[in-house]
Amino acid sequence: MDLIRTYSHIIRKNLDNPERAFKFIKFGLDAALKYVSLFPDRRLPQALGFLNKICLKNIKEPLCHPENSIWVNIFAPTEFLHAMDIYPLFIEAYSSFMSGFLIEGNLIDRAESSGISNTLCSFHKVFIGSGEFNILKKPKMAITTSMACDANINTFRYMAGKYNIPLYIIDVPYEYNRDSLEYVKKQLKEMAVLIEEVFDRKLDIDKLREIVIRENQTKTLINEYIENLRQRCLNSTMSFELYMLFTSHVFIGREDTLNFYKMLAEDIKRAPLRSGGGIFFIHLPPMFEVSFKERFNFSRDFHLLGCDLNYDFLEEVEYREPFEGIAKKLILNAYNGSIERRIEALSNIIDRIEPDGIIQFCHWGCKQSIGCTGMFKDYLKEKNIPFLAVDGDVIDRRNNQHGQAKTRLEAFLEIVKRR
Ligand code: SF4
Repeated sequence: MDLIRTYSHIIRKNLDNPERAFKFIKFGLDAALKYVSLFPDRRLPQALGFLNKICLKNIKEPLCHPENSIWVNIFAPTEFLHAMDIYPLFIEAYSSFMSGFLIEGNLIDRAESSGISNTLCSFHKVFIGSGEFNILKKPKMAITTSMACDANINTFRYMAGKYNIPLYIIDVPYEYNRDSLEYVKKQLKEMAVLIEEVFDRKLDIDKLREIVIRENQTKTLINEYIENLRQRCLNSTMSFELYMLFTSHVFIGREDTLNFYKMLAEDIKRAPLRSGGGIFFIHLPPMFEVSFKERFNFSRDFHLLGCDLNYDFLEEVEYREPFEGIAKKLILNAYNGSIERRIEALSNIIDRIEPDGIIQFCHWGCKQSIGCTGMFKDYLKEKNIPFLAVDGDVIDRRNNQHGQAKTRLEAFLEIVKRR
């Protein structure tokens, strides 16, 4: 930890010199990648060790090759990017890494001092703060969607304007019907043409189909993994649940992602049987919150069973008509549309995993998260599953009330234990 603090101090001291700050960030990612390759954490199953490496690689590549990268949000249809060998910079994950480097406070302060509201989600403020410090290099373009997050469009508009790059916003309707499908399909075609123009390269439709076929193979493995979670559980940490957002979303369809799920599906079959309380998270687990870390990371008393965001669309995507298939995937995502759809998806996953308790960590500034708490609470009461909603911040440690979180978490875990 002291090493990280020293490293963080060095980056912070150099934030006003973007070239140098960027070099130190790159150095940190390189060093982390070398470290996890040379000294893998023996407590981790093979798949999670591999995941560690691919996430570091996937965050580093677009940062180091901005001329071949696109900024994207979690729901962006990156299948097109993979088919065209373009690196997506997954901005929410980028912010998580900056928080891992303990520099999120400076980046957030910089965003706020340039006029950004302090109520904006910290995933976005870290990204904007990096732009204000000019640490981020100019990518070729940006792509975002209208789904779930009310902050995305404004953040992407602001950053695309600041960097003077083209932005494509995919407007995803709530309802699924022929008209909405055609509407999204048309946008995906427009987006693909824009990417072709910006990068001066052609989209190979067969390569896109290959990506989608691999995505479907990945989904089969994810479903296999879920089936096993009912009885078994991996030795893991909350960070790995968040790392899985790389593979379940932005990097789905890639070979390394498929390999990761192949390993995961094998690891879970060999994993110990669930012996303590199995806890499932709604939205995101608070990977940096101390009391949650103490209770869940590598714990045998309480097992981490995942978070619903990793399982927001588990169906196959039609590979013969990839534009239509991907459009359908966007519209029918559990995080798109009404809360009832999310509850239905949660209900399906609960029936399959059978958790002993569910936690919603209401991330500061996330309107969709706090807005649905009451409905989750009512639904889970009906299902007789203990539920805890606790406020905090996944990224900005300053927004976490440690004492309060600990008291509420311990009381909740006591209930789970007594059942
Ligand atoms: S946490 Fe909420 S507000 Fe922040 S990026 Fe995610 S969906 Fe958007």
